Amino acid sequence: CIERSVIRWGGERGGENVRHACIFLSSITPRLPKAGETIHGTNFFIGFGGKGSNMCIQASRLGVKTSIVCKVGSLGGGAKWLLSIKKSYIAVRRENPVRGGVPGCLSIVLPSKTAESFFVVFFLFFFLKSIESFRALARYIERGEKIDNQRELTGRLDTMTYKQSKTVKTVFNPAPALPDLDPEFYQYSDVFCCNESEAEILTGIPVVSPVDAGKVGSLLLDRGCKSVIITLGVEGSVVMSVEEPNPKHIPTRKITAVDTTGAGDSFIGALAFYMAKCPDLRAEEMVRRANHIASVSVQLHGTQPSYAFRKDLPQEL
Ligand code: ADP
Repeated sequence: CIERSVIRWGGERGGENVRHACIFLSSITPRLPKAGETIHGTNFFIGFGGKGSNMCIQASRLGVKTSIVCKVGSLGGGAKWLLSIKKSYIAVRRENPVRGGVPGCLSIVLPSKTAESFFVVFFLFFFLKSIESFRALARYIERGEKIDNQRELTGRLDTMTYKQSKTVKTVFNPAPALPDLDPEFYQYSDVFCCNESEAEILTGIPVVSPVDAGKVGSLLLDRGCKSVIITLGVEGSVVMSVEEPNPKHIPTRKITAVDTTGAGDSFIGALAFYMAKCPDLRAEEMVRRANHIASVSVQLHGTQPSYAFRKDLPQEL
């Protein structure tokens, strides 16, 4: 959540949410191993995630206050994760790690020639059990209430009051995507933002071009989304909305990519920043700027370490 005005949330399956503290183990390899093969890596590093904290950190580096609501395990790096979050000036209101729990673990294999990574993600906990949790989150953000027990997180959908709120906006990122996503997520997000592969899983339409993204976007608008953004890696993004249903392709910068891991999170963090700080900007302009900021992240290895700070960006952003 950003300056009490934006929540982004995502990753639902059958009511289970997978936003967590996450440690990632990243191996740079000359190529992908074949089935059953062991190969030597050329480099290795450990970093922090997952997607929610990546987005928070990107937005925070651009200059807004952010906070994250998630579950943290006491074992296997949970304390270090908390420290890294605090160092990024992200509010930590409740710090009791779940005893005996380990943070999620994301293993990344990055063949050095492609800049495209392969991921295996493991999460032990499922924290916010369903879309109903939006209600609790909205209250947390709007009134600064502390979410202090599990009961708080199980309000019913029909009592979701955040939709009436003028101050809370939601950006929903359906990652990992699942074909049977609860339809209410389409209706209850102000911005529905996914990448090509997530778009294909959700709709069955392969997305290899901005035109394909436009087709998927139309389908997602039909399902109830108010506005849709589909990110297309090197091709930039496509944006459309109920008010402006014609898909608009917003290209990104031509740069040399080293590691595209976490580019989508950087994009959403930047988008949320502009939604909070410059709500009168046109959607295309927000997307153009978010494209630019995400393109900075692909020029260095890792996720959070590659995210841009405001001071390093051109003035006009
Ligand atoms: P994800 O990380 O979720 O797969 P994408 O790969 O679509 O997301 O990247 C998100 C955004 O990052 C893109 O819309 C684009 O603006 C930027 N981006 C990603 N890859 C590149 C690239 N190779 N060159 C320039 N910008 C890129």
